[in-house]
Amino acid sequence: MAVEPISPEEARRRQQRGAVLVDVREPHERAAGMAEGALGVSLAELVQSPAQHLPEPGAEVLLICEGGARSHRCGEQLLQAGYRRVASVEGGTRAWAAGALPLVHPADDPDFYDRYSRHLRLPEVGEAGQRRLLQSRVAVVGAGGLGSPLAYYLAAAGVGTLAIADDDVVERSNLQRQILHAEGRIGMPKVESARQALLALNPGLRVEAVQERITSANVERFLHGADVVVDGGDNLPMRYLLNDACVKLRKPLVYGAIDRFNGQASVFDAGRHRGELPCYRCLFPEPPPPEFAPSCSDNGVLGVLPGVIGVLQATEVVKLLLDLGEPLSGRLLRFDALAMRFRETRVPADPDCVVCAPGREFPGYIDYARFCAG
Ligand SMILES: [Zn+2]
Repeated sequence: MAVEPISPEEARRRQQRGAVLVDVREPHERAAGMAEGALGVSLAELVQSPAQHLPEPGAEVLLICEGGARSHRCGEQLLQAGYRRVASVEGGTRAWAAGALPLVHPADDPDFYDRYSRHLRLPEVGEAGQRRLLQSRVAVVGAGGLGSPLAYYLAAAGVGTLAIADDDVVERSNLQRQILHAEGRIGMPKVESARQALLALNPGLRVEAVQERITSANVERFLHGADVVVDGGDNLPMRYLLNDACVKLRKPLVYGAIDRFNGQASVFDAGRHRGELPCYRCLFPEPPPPEFAPSCSDNGVLGVLPGVIGVLQATEVVKLLLDLGEPLSGRLLRFDALAMRFRETRVPADPDCVVCAPGREFPGYIDYARFCAG
């Protein structure tokens, strides 16, 4: 089997009959104009995971590049990967344009290629991955110590919709670590201050500022449509509520907690992987009584600590959204800032867990908040 050379006019005819045309140049090259109706996926990206971009191997695939050489090379690799009907446009986009066939300019949004150029250069992210981030929705509970760095980095990375819930207002004592907020916004609702900071960084995003305390009554509404849920609240009742909701709604939960000089992070994905991966209750089935619960007292915290843990959480969110690497599921990562040491513990799924055991019916929400004085 060989790559079939075709003219731009023939490619146009076949495209109109349903063949897939893929422009395999790099994003910055396509920005100058690409064949109308073509899918933009760089050669490296396409060859690495053809199934993610193309229909089944029997489908007709047409490839185009700048002058015809790269698309031919790409075609040979697709044939090796099992695709059977592969053609390459001779003379590439140059010949397409010379033949007065229609071009489109994907750089209606030049911001995209510029802003995310360091992501676009990673084949593991690439244009398809970046577009996926832009289409993602992440629900963040808490716009404080953990919520600040993690929302900041998610906004910078181009997560398209960030829903942030917090019912507090900005106080001066927050500014030692809650980097989303600023002196001039003391007294402002934290979610509004967060919205301003995030949009100043990346104005193209959607930030949904929810000035509410998340409870059993509104948690499902808040998590609706979220691809990933992040616990940036660092309080115990919220942690159980989010855990239970995420198991019920089958959503991954990125967990983080901090105290004094120590922090920890994990991913709880039991909702999508019952019996295989743990939930938070597999680790701690019940909250301790309020007088022993750290969230009910006001311990000190080293200002940079939430930065470390929040950025670990943001890293896990981006990996989950892009299906990249090995998530921190089934593992609890502990950080000791004074010793500057990370330790990892395995967390197995508890086969008798009251929430996530396979086949267990959802037991209903419990609002621990009302037992907690602080
Ligand atoms: Zn569990």
